[in-house]
Amino acid sequence: MKTIFELRTAFIAGTYTPTEAITASLAVIKEKNDHLNVFLDVYDYSIEVANVATEMYKKGGELPRLLGMPIAIKNNILIKGKRATGASKILEHYTATYDATVIKRLRDAGAIFVGATNMDEFAMGGSTENSAFGVTKNPLDTARVPGGSSGGSAAAVAMGAVPAAIGTDTGGSIRQPASYCGLVGFKPTYGAVSRYGLMAMGSSLDQAGPMTHSVADAQLLHEVMSGLDTYDATTIAPDTYPTLEEKPTYTFGVPRPFLKEGIDADVLAAFESHIEHLKSLGHTVVDIDLPLFEKGLAAYYIVMPAEVSSNLARYDGIRYGFSAEGKNLLEVYQKSRAGGFGAEVKRRILLGTHVLSSGYYDAYYGKAELVRRKMRQELADVFKTVDIILTPTAPTPAFKIGEQKDPLAMYSQDIFTVPVNLTGVPALTFPMGTVNREESTLPVGVQYIAPLGGDARLFTIGKKIYDESL
Ligand code: GLN
Repeated sequence: MKTIFELRTAFIAGTYTPTEAITASLAVIKEKNDHLNVFLDVYDYSIEVANVATEMYKKGGELPRLLGMPIAIKNNILIKGKRATGASKILEHYTATYDATVIKRLRDAGAIFVGATNMDEFAMGGSTENSAFGVTKNPLDTARVPGGSSGGSAAAVAMGAVPAAIGTDTGGSIRQPASYCGLVGFKPTYGAVSRYGLMAMGSSLDQAGPMTHSVADAQLLHEVMSGLDTYDATTIAPDTYPTLEEKPTYTFGVPRPFLKEGIDADVLAAFESHIEHLKSLGHTVVDIDLPLFEKGLAAYYIVMPAEVSSNLARYDGIRYGFSAEGKNLLEVYQKSRAGGFGAEVKRRILLGTHVLSSGYYDAYYGKAELVRRKMRQELADVFKTVDIILTPTAPTPAFKIGEQKDPLAMYSQDIFTVPVNLTGVPALTFPMGTVNREESTLPVGVQYIAPLGGDARLFTIGKKIYDESL
């Protein structure tokens, strides 16, 4: 039993219980976590909650949609009374004082949180190597990374501990690890899901979303988590964007000029066979030109650090977590931040304060925001002729731990994912095939991008293309 829907069916039939499911989850974690380093914390109370859920299934009647489902949560999402570290030393001993909105909604729907997953520090990275608490290994090949920054959440599902996990995506952090671990991952339309209680990285980019084995499961979790929230003024009502019509076949646009150097030949081959598969199902696949999309990486690595530098100013050694001794207030700030943040976080804070400084603001931040606006326009124009944009999710399969030493090489992993966050549109990834590397067969994902508010379209087509093939 792998999916939420399979578990639900068994729970209702009484052939399997939430108590058994949580017991199995905890057993898998116990057996594998020392080696894989996926969970930073495991919640023992989950077994008591599961017993209650088991009783509720016995009684029957109308039961919450996720009742008894074991779910893992990325450790930058606040759960009241639990440690929320963001995988940073600066928050190593910080306990959340309230629930994130997504947590509240998942809990109200009956989900059971089994533990907190490792990640790149404050969600900055693409491999989960930037965690202050050690690297997470990819369960499919432990010499390799699970991707990032939600690598722990991806690994939690891939190792068989949970049917689903929640991640956050600022520039691809749900989709890229899903691709590396053979999973479904979904980044919602910006504003569809509340950011209240998520540790802010890039506030205009961040969204929480599901990582699952099936598109149907991802849809269910998204439906539970999404919706207006008075605690987040950027959340949108369901009717904010026009409803997209459902069609029996779609026109897919492939940004050809974008698929050139730096993309693994085997990934491209898997992508081409996915295109052939779509055509064999009656869909139309056309080439499109998205010249500004290619500027996505450059724009993202200005906008994101700018927002990071401002969002992380709150970690000053006074208000939260780690605090170093100092002769005066300034020294407390300096020593707490110098000792509390890791190298990648510092790099981005420096970059961010630089691009926002008065002498450089227009040259960098202003330009990047302009590119971003034009990208939105370019995208809106393209969506007049195609229904869905199609790309590989990442340019390579999972790479080896320690292999990507140059930060810029690591950033280039985000080439297909960051334009999606910059423009706010939704995107779905699921496995499109495998590639062989040494002894391993590694999954690679395809990315479907829809217009703003087109989340439902992605679920419908994803279920047809992927779930029906399972
Ligand atoms: N890999 C990207 C980065 O390092 C994406 C991070 C994310 O989505 N949180 O910024």
